[in-house]
Amino acid sequence: MFFDPKEEFRNKLTNRFSFYNWTNANGTQSYTAISIKSGWYNLLWDISLEIEKELAKDAKKQLFKVFEVYQKYGEMNFRYTYYSYNIERLLLEAEDRSNKICEMCGQFGGLREECMFILTLCDECNSKRNERFI
Ligand SMILES: [Zn+2]
Repeated sequence: MFFDPKEEFRNKLTNRFSFYNWTNANGTQSYTAISIKSGWYNLLWDISLEIEKELAKDAKKQLFKVFEVYQKYGEMNFRYTYYSYNIERLLLEAEDRSNKICEMCGQFGGLREECMFILTLCDECNSKRNERFI
């Protein structure tokens, strides 16, 4: 069977954290769209653990839902409902930290703005990327 790390990671997230599971207006079960690459999976997991801790103190925690986790201009971004100051701070911290983590492999990286799409990559993944354009 084809192994899909993205599917596996999404299942792990949705099994553990209720804020990645939600219900559509028509009552059907839905899940967060996660389109980031695997280099950021550890970061997203760590931030999710911190969000979980923060929500444990909050009676309205079921109102917090994440609809999408995606990459934009080399940063991890979130679309979500309801936030407290502390949750907002954690999500902004994740965005900040994603600037220094290679999206492909998870090693130390930096923003690469020389190509059409801005990505955060380590030197090695960046040179692989550049080879493809030669
Ligand atoms: Zn890399």
